Amino acid sequence: MSRVVVVGAGLSGLCAAHALRRRDIDVDLLEASPRVGGRIRDARAATGHVFPLGAEWLGPDEERLGALLTDFGLATSAQHVEGRALIEVGGERAAYAIDESGPLHFLPLPATDAGKAVRDAFAELDADCDRVPLDAPWTTPDAERLDRMPLHDWMLDRLHDAPARALFAAAAGVEVGTRLDRISLLYYLFLRRAINRRIVDDRRIIGGTERLVQRLAEPLVQHITCDARVDAIEQTATGVTVHAAGAGYAADRVIVTAPPAAARRIEWRPALPPDRAALLQAITLSAVVKVIVVYETPFWRERGLSGHSLSDVGPLQTTDDASPADGAGALVGFVRDRHAERWHARPTADRRVAIVEQLVRLFGARAAPAGHPRTRLGRRAAGGGRLLPQHATGRADPLGPGHAPPPRPGPLGRHRAGRPLDGLDGGRDPLWRAAAAEVVRSLEVTR
Ligand SMILES: Cc1cc2nc3c(=O)[nH]c(=O)nc-3n(C[C@H](O)[C@H](O)[C@H](O)COP(=O)(O)OP(=O)(O)OC[C@H]3O[C@@H](n4cnc5c(N)ncnc54)[C@H](O)[C@@H]3O)c2cc1C
Repeated sequence: MSRVVVVGAGLSGLCAAHALRRRDIDVDLLEASPRVGGRIRDARAATGHVFPLGAEWLGPDEERLGALLTDFGLATSAQHVEGRALIEVGGERAAYAIDESGPLHFLPLPATDAGKAVRDAFAELDADCDRVPLDAPWTTPDAERLDRMPLHDWMLDRLHDAPARALFAAAAGVEVGTRLDRISLLYYLFLRRAINRRIVDDRRIIGGTERLVQRLAEPLVQHITCDARVDAIEQTATGVTVHAAGAGYAADRVIVTAPPAAARRIEWRPALPPDRAALLQAITLSAVVKVIVVYETPFWRERGLSGHSLSDVGPLQTTDDASPADGAGALVGFVRDRHAERWHARPTADRRVAIVEQLVRLFGARAAPAGHPRTRLGRRAAGGGRLLPQHATGRADPLGPGHAPPPRPGPLGRHRAGRPLDGLDGGRDPLWRAAAAEVVRSLEVTR
């Protein structure tokens, strides 16, 4: 029987292991941490409610993920979106009705001159997306120039008013999870095409996202070894030997699902080809801190607010309604990128003060914990993490054919850039699927 080692027991590793087991291939799933799930992790708040600290939303177009949830008997609930959204961008604060037909379904674009300019700018980008072949983005006409140009420069060329620039930067920044000078126009067009131009993530798994991971892990229990950080991968004449926690695992093939920052710490023997090694160095993940605040009731709904907000003031760049079904209220917010880097280093108390100040600014005095003894600022339910992959600009080679399928942009959805289960990472297909298929193919050839 063929044997494959899968490195990392996050969603990608678990799905790859499943695909291999279905083909009767023996699998060793090696996980560095004491638990499976990777960036999927839930926590119980002091009120007893369970909140996802990592992956949370999924969209209606995620058919494979939907099928998996059906197989596992996991139900989803809809994101509350009714009501007006708040925006504090470019020095202005206001409430707007969300335009569901807009280019960024989940973000309010006001009916102002700035809003109109930004809508037109997104329409232009969407037209350009069509020129990017998902399976071979490096063949896009003018790929090198597009890859050298930061999205920020494109914005400066395209938008001339400060309010429009501020709105575009805030909206696109939420979409990509990083500053616009850190990603290339080509990569952005690729992402936008891959997510079908509109991110519509409107459901979450009832009971928490970790339930999906648990269901995936159950039949694999005897194949999973936790606390087994892979530190070296050696290619031998007959296959590979994967070294983890003092043990060597011999296999025919290895699939590495560790994020690039972790994968580049692995010692590769022989060394990876220079272009592949350079690729691993070039991909970084942007920082994100997720914050959950629990209230007695979703009081903002009484004022006709949806709980959604977009801010370029911060610390939170967005908030959304995450209220449990039992009548309690909760807001989930994200501190991203340079805000996350800055606030990460500050004491918890300072972070709480700044976040509560912002929530009061947006949602009124009832958002302040002092007025509501049962209100909890979710210290235990506040997670930190690394979210979106960033391809530096001027790196046409990372999108080049030598690396097909293209490097895994990580996460999926509203706050994400890749879809391990449902596409994007590998263009039309998730990378774990491409990797598993390739391994199966190559084993069949050598059998
Ligand atoms: C705060 C936050 C919010 C998010 N929200 C959403 C959302 O709403 N919707 C959505 O779809 N996605 C979301 N995501 C993204 C989603 O969680 C990820 O895309 C997805 O979980 C990635 O799965 P993965 O298996 O590819 O990687 P990971 O989950 O990162 O798994 C990789 C695994 O590899 C292990 N590993 C690393 N190095 C080694 C080594 N040397 N040896 C062995 N094991 C190793 C790690 O410990 C980890 O368990 C969010 C992510 C974060 C951080």
